Amino acid sequence: MRAMVLERPGAPLVLTELPDPKPGEHDVLIRVHACGVCRTDLHIVDGELTRPKLPLVPGHEIVGEVIGRGPAVQRHALGDRVGVPWLGWTCGECRYCREGRENLCDRARFTGYDVDGGYAELTVADQRYCFALPAGPTDQAAAPWLCAGLIGYRSLRLAGPARRLGIYGFGAAAHVVAQIAIDEGREVYAFTREGDSVAQDFARSLGAVWAGASSQTPPQELDAALIFAPTGVLVPAALRATCKGATVVCGGIHMSQIPAFGYELLWGERVLRSVANLTRADAIEFLPLAARIPVATHTIAYPLARANEALDDLRAGRFSGAAVLLP
Ligand SMILES: [Zn+2]
Ligand SMILES: [Zn+2]
Repeated sequence: MRAMVLERPGAPLVLTELPDPKPGEHDVLIRVHACGVCRTDLHIVDGELTRPKLPLVPGHEIVGEVIGRGPAVQRHALGDRVGVPWLGWTCGECRYCREGRENLCDRARFTGYDVDGGYAELTVADQRYCFALPAGPTDQAAAPWLCAGLIGYRSLRLAGPARRLGIYGFGAAAHVVAQIAIDEGREVYAFTREGDSVAQDFARSLGAVWAGASSQTPPQELDAALIFAPTGVLVPAALRATCKGATVVCGGIHMSQIPAFGYELLWGERVLRSVANLTRADAIEFLPLAARIPVATHTIAYPLARANEALDDLRAGRFSGAAVLLP
C-alpha cells in the first residue's frame, strides 16, 4: 500500500510503499476512503507532541470500508462503512477506565500517534474503537467528524448550557460545533486571527451572530468560551470576555505558553479547563446528532501524496473548514 510516513519530527512526510497491514485478533482491515487532517497531526509532525511511534503513518479522522476482519471481530461486517477516531485503545483496568473516563486512560493508545493511522490506502483498527457511520454525509464530509467534530462536541458539552458561546479559532472543530450550538438555540460569537475576514465571513455564513478578531471585546458578555486555536494568549482574552460563572474550555492537545494573568480574570467563579481526547460514549452521542441536524462539513480535498501541502495550508490558515486526504 501507499502511505505518507513521518520518519522523524520536523521533516516532511515521505510517500512510501509499505506492506499491507494485517488485522490482529480484534482488528478490522479498512480501505481508507478519506482521512481528515487535524491540527494534532501538525503538532506531531512539527515535534510538539514528543513521543510518536516512528516511523509513523499519521491520521486519526478515518472513514473507510471494512475489507478484512481478525478472528474475534463481531461488530463490523465486510463492506461496512466505519469511522476511526483518535482514541485507538484503552486498558479497561486503570482507575480512569473503571470510572468511565477512558479518555484519560493511563495506557491509552492513539490512532496516528501510538499506532499507524489513515494517511494511507489501508489501515487496521481495533473494532471496539471504530464506529458505524450514519447514512447522509459523504466519506469526505464525515472524516472531520471523527476528531474535529468529536472533540468539539465534548468541549461544547463541558462548557455547560451557555447561551452566548464564544469560539476562539474558527477552523475544523469550530465550524462543526457552531452548527450544533446554533441548532441548540445558542448564540455563537466567533473569534479569528486579526484581519482574517475570510474566516469571519465563514463564521457569519454558518449563523454566528458576531465575528471579529480575538483581541476584540464582543458586544455581549459570553456565558462560555471554547478555545480551539493553539495560542495561550487566548486564555486570558477569553476569560476577560466572559461573565461571572462562565467556563472557558481549551479544546486543543497542545497550546503555546499561557501568559500570567491577574486573579480578577478568574474571580467570579469562572472555570478554566481542558478537554483531553474523547470517550466512545461521546461518539455514540455525537455521530447521530451530527447526521440529524445535519452538520454540513466544509472540506477541501487533497490526494494522499499531497499531505504535506495540506499540513502547510492548515499551518498557514489558507482554507476554511477542514482538509481531507483522499487516498
Ligand atoms: Zn485505562
Ligand atoms: Zn484530531
